[in-house]
Amino acid sequence: MNARASALNVATTCPYCGVGCGVVATPDGQGGAAIAGDRDHPANAGRLCVKGAALGETLGTEARLLHPTIHGVRTTWPRALDAVAAGFTAAHEAHGPQAIAMYLSGQLLTEDYYVANKLMKGFLGSANVDTNSRLCMASSVAGHRRAFGADVVPGCYDDFDQADVIVFVGSNAAWCHPVLFQRAEQAKARRGARIVTIDPRRTATAELSDLHLPIAPGADTILFCRLLVEIADSDAFDRAYVEAHTSGLERALEQARAIAPDRATTAARCGVAEPDLAAFLDLWIGAPRVVTAFSQGVNQSARGTDKVNAILNVHLATGRIGKPGCGPFSLTGQPNAMGGREVGGLANQLAAHMDFQPADVDRVRRFWNAPAMAEAPGLKAVELFEAIERGAIKALWIMSTNPAVSLPRADAMRAALDKLDFLAVSEVSAHVDGLLDAATVVLPAAAWGEKDGTVTNSERVISRQRPFHAPPGEAWPDWRQVSEVARRLGHGAAFAYRGPADIFREHAALSGFENDGARAFDIGALATLADAEYDALAPVQWPRRRGQAGRKRFFSEGGFFHSDGRARFVAVADPPPPRLTEAYGLVLNTGRVRDQWHTMTRTGLSPRLARHRDAPFVEVHPDDAARLGLSDAGFARVTSAQGAAELRVVATASQRRGSLFAPIHWTAATAGRARVGALTHASVDPVSGQPDSKATPATIAPSPIAAEGFLVARRRVALPDWLAHARIAVLGGEAVTFASAEGPAALQAFLSNWLGRAASASRRADEGGQRFQSATFADGRLESFLHVAPKLDRAAFDAAIALLARPTIDAQERRFALAGRALAAGDSASPLVCACFAVRRDAIEAAIAAGAASVDAVGRETRAGTNCGSCRAEIRQLVTSRDAVAAIVAGQGD
Ligand code: SF4
Repeated sequence: MNARASALNVATTCPYCGVGCGVVATPDGQGGAAIAGDRDHPANAGRLCVKGAALGETLGTEARLLHPTIHGVRTTWPRALDAVAAGFTAAHEAHGPQAIAMYLSGQLLTEDYYVANKLMKGFLGSANVDTNSRLCMASSVAGHRRAFGADVVPGCYDDFDQADVIVFVGSNAAWCHPVLFQRAEQAKARRGARIVTIDPRRTATAELSDLHLPIAPGADTILFCRLLVEIADSDAFDRAYVEAHTSGLERALEQARAIAPDRATTAARCGVAEPDLAAFLDLWIGAPRVVTAFSQGVNQSARGTDKVNAILNVHLATGRIGKPGCGPFSLTGQPNAMGGREVGGLANQLAAHMDFQPADVDRVRRFWNAPAMAEAPGLKAVELFEAIERGAIKALWIMSTNPAVSLPRADAMRAALDKLDFLAVSEVSAHVDGLLDAATVVLPAAAWGEKDGTVTNSERVISRQRPFHAPPGEAWPDWRQVSEVARRLGHGAAFAYRGPADIFREHAALSGFENDGARAFDIGALATLADAEYDALAPVQWPRRRGQAGRKRFFSEGGFFHSDGRARFVAVADPPPPRLTEAYGLVLNTGRVRDQWHTMTRTGLSPRLARHRDAPFVEVHPDDAARLGLSDAGFARVTSAQGAAELRVVATASQRRGSLFAPIHWTAATAGRARVGALTHASVDPVSGQPDSKATPATIAPSPIAAEGFLVARRRVALPDWLAHARIAVLGGEAVTFASAEGPAALQAFLSNWLGRAASASRRADEGGQRFQSATFADGRLESFLHVAPKLDRAAFDAAIALLARPTIDAQERRFALAGRALAAGDSASPLVCACFAVRRDAIEAAIAAGAASVDAVGRETRAGTNCGSCRAEIRQLVTSRDAVAAIVAGQGD
């Protein structure tokens, strides 16, 4: 049965990455829901990655904001909204429209985004509306607009099924866009498609690829310039396409020759082996159908827009665009980055992909009947917060994002918020560090599962997010909050929406307004949907022009959106290497881990997702680790000109020499001293304004840690920031790991005092006073377990977590717990590899030892890697690693 047609099941869309998978939620009537993939959704056909599959674990309301507050004191909605209107009015009257701003999020629904932009750009006269999507894909937007004349992703997901070669550039798609990556893997398995990864790190995606180019940071433009030169020199141009549909090739090619004159120079500048470079060039040029997919490694760069255009250039040169199995493909990070682009969520755009050209400004003004239309672009995210630092912005409204964690120079951004006269924050979670304390007014917002509206994924498919729970407490949807403030500001008639369907119809009508095909984004055919049709709307790909059939792809026959209908080759600039100094001589790259999303306010609620990577870390090449005195699994302090963070060291050859990698997810709420956003510099791309999060000059030094430990507890326990390393959700409570320069005995004494540990706690000390354990019990179950030793005892940690999950424990289990031993076979301390089926490393190694010689064979034996596929790279490493060989040998010897 079609899920959308069922009364019990609600078809909605995953709130995480830009793949935009369809989800079927079945509420349990008690605040939870069973989650499954939507077999009818074109993005995933029923598949979910582990993050999507764990959505049901994140629905609790314990961490939610439930009531509006003013200066931290609970208030009513009318008073809170009055305060927001008054705060914006005061700043506007005293300092003009440039002194007010909104900072939005790719987590918002299109309808929320539309209303916020309309209020600011049409009715308050300020284009200072930007979004955290600026941090995600602004360089792709700018690159598309330069080349195509419009922000259009030319292809669709089907192209991954049909390509001969799929290139992932700056994209760890196996972890960050897992369901789409699975399609690439299937193309490889079924049709022999080849997968290439271009990434400084040997990521999970690289691990599963046929070819990996471990490119030097920032050198992607050089590589694709060389490809353009080789296309020219091997006469691989599609001359008919180039002549009929493009302009600017000569200049772009001349510049490419200057940047990448030959293979040897290119290989040296890119830091890759010349044979690997040759293999890539030959593969790309020789395959008739190529998809080049790119994401944050391209976008989050000081020269990100040029990287995008260097990629678009080679597809234009070969006419490999808009045809089945061909095209450049921007993978968006956030669930609704595309929807935000459609309604003008970026400060330099107007609604419906329009610009600040006078004709566009006039058109939007007339459509909205807008009294105070902004006529020039506003401040982009980094500029916006620099203006706040200078005191030029007086009133700010932040919705659904935390710039105090995610913007570059995060510590400085957090301090900048105190310079505002007025700050409103619309937020879901009560655990967003650095933001709620700074706010004048906090407005509780509806979350995923409660929100009603639409999102657009990376292939231009608009999907419904449907509610299946009522918002808890007094939480409201964001569009309603904005509309009520607009009414208080005297614009009630223009914001008299009854619900999201009204907003969507207006948005669709604007996209088709005076649009004779000159604007790519047109969903005018959806402007007359009845409420019931909007409710039942199936996923639909734009464009949907009134009176015309839809289309999957753009540009196979030209039809670009520059005034002459031609695409532009862009002569890109020669990218400078990262600016390292004597003090900061390493390149810090940032990114994501497989099972977490952004700042973990949602994924951090899932015990299952917490166990894949349960603490913040920094990856270092073993040679650098040895040179710098770092030990694997020890601690190190990473420092940049902006700040510092303390992280656990992972020495791995998957990291380039001279580079560091640290994930972005941990905040002060989840890690005491591991806010990686505090390290990143504010260098931005000159065209797109997108920050360069991938190449911050940094340094690293060992941290003198003498004791480590953990506290597993049924209730949240506050530990001092200098001590707590990471906090994770576990079944039945939470677990905190910690590390200290003090030795075990001193740390144990401090903690007993800090925690007020009762004398009745069961205690055990051994190994010459170097190892301490104590536990408290109540109602026949474990209440808390504290462990201190010179190093984190992973077996004891996992045993304690397993014990906390038990509804009752007996006397023998108490003794085992105090001994720090696993309780039963199912309580293995081996690291979790497959989160979907909870398969641990030791089970996989056992399967390999028993003869499973491939990822698929391991899957047949253990089920690991057979659902979302996110762990297949790790399984492959185990299959091929020396550990596995040793395990096999050991197995034979037994
Ligand atoms: Fe959600 Fe995973 Fe699909 Fe992305 S790939 S939309 S995170 S289920």
